[in-house]
Amino acid sequence: MLLESNKTTNYDVVILSLCVTARNEAVHFGSLFSRLFHCVRKDAKRLSVEQLNPYNMKNLSLYSLFALILLGTLSSFGSKKVIAQEPPKALNVIYFIGDGTALPQVYAGMLATRQELVFPKFPYIGVVDTHSASNDITDSAAGGTALASDHKTRNAMLGMNPDTIPVKTLLEVFAEQGKETGIVVTSYITHATPAAFYAKVPHRRQYEDIALQFAEAQNINLAIGGGMKHFNQRKDSINLVERMENELGWKVYDTLANIDVTCKKYAVLANDDHMPPAAKRGDFLPRAVETALQTLDNAENGFFLMVEGSQIDFACHGNDSAWMVNEVVDFSNAIQLALDYAEEHGNTLVVVTADHETGGLTLPDPKGKYTNVVFNYSTGSHTCLPVMVYAYGPGAEQFTGWMQNTDIKGKILNACGLENIGDGLPENDGRRFNAVKVNLDSKPE
Ligand SMILES: [Zn+2]
Repeated sequence: MLLESNKTTNYDVVILSLCVTARNEAVHFGSLFSRLFHCVRKDAKRLSVEQLNPYNMKNLSLYSLFALILLGTLSSFGSKKVIAQEPPKALNVIYFIGDGTALPQVYAGMLATRQELVFPKFPYIGVVDTHSASNDITDSAAGGTALASDHKTRNAMLGMNPDTIPVKTLLEVFAEQGKETGIVVTSYITHATPAAFYAKVPHRRQYEDIALQFAEAQNINLAIGGGMKHFNQRKDSINLVERMENELGWKVYDTLANIDVTCKKYAVLANDDHMPPAAKRGDFLPRAVETALQTLDNAENGFFLMVEGSQIDFACHGNDSAWMVNEVVDFSNAIQLALDYAEEHGNTLVVVTADHETGGLTLPDPKGKYTNVVFNYSTGSHTCLPVMVYAYGPGAEQFTGWMQNTDIKGKILNACGLENIGDGLPENDGRRFNAVKVNLDSKPE
């Protein structure tokens, strides 16, 4: 099909397909040559008289010459037996989600600091389509559910498919496989993104139900974030912190200081509300990641750690550039720690992505002179701009090209050699309940 549709790359495609063939089948030189010749002749036939100018002919012969050299080289390899090596499997997974963090936020952080940050260091980078089952523009609940579970759902729903059937998340699969699990965020621990990994509720604002499900979860080893009020200042007057400590096997801390990192199950609820903005909370997020890694490093069967840069989204909702940049840098610093860990422990996969873009951020010079970049927001809400995925470690090579947010769970499981684990629920590629129309005539406000 490519050969038909794109004449300018005909010969690249011919060469590429022959390379693939040669690698896979070790075909004889003669047969390869005749296939190449056949393709080149077929293409030459399709070219118009005008296209057959001397320049094109020159290119044709150059391509053919290059192809012949390449084929000669390949055929000399073809006779040798190639021993396929099993690629290493990931034992540990560190999954970063930058809430509201698409390429504009990342690049704004790089521009503002004149530093590359961590993002360009990743060897594999792809693009992620974030639409939910109900809307082109997802919220964090449907976005988080898709990233956690491989199911698109309706906006506001957590951990269930559009028919309110609970879905199985990465955290749950890994816990079943005997891995230890952790969650680190700078929002409430009950906020949409973290809750998507452990809670099953029809609406993300059911904070007290989510807190109860968190407290009763058997499969979370550690969690660090804010949101203490959903545990000890509840409408039902239950003191969940006491219940967690007395009945449910948790150690609950209200600060990162003096944590016993050998403790097998602990929650750090370091603020009643969300954690303060980056400028006030300092290096809380990197320290929290460090603490989590110290604990999980002892896990016998490996671990799964989810880390959210929660407040990049908050800052972009407020169109607050200074806050946004601080959060992007903080997120980058936390990711760097994970990369350092992964570099030291070769069996660790690090995946960084986002649930959606927030703010409709663009980086123009309003005067059109290319001399002055302004951070320009087109909305105080989310957009459907695709986000990036960055990967490092065993299995990272899967994270290239264009994918759905629902593809990431499967790729992570593949990396760990757990490719056959599914939850048996039918796939839903979304747009089933699509309510948002794209208006091509609309002008920016
Ligand atoms: Zn979000």
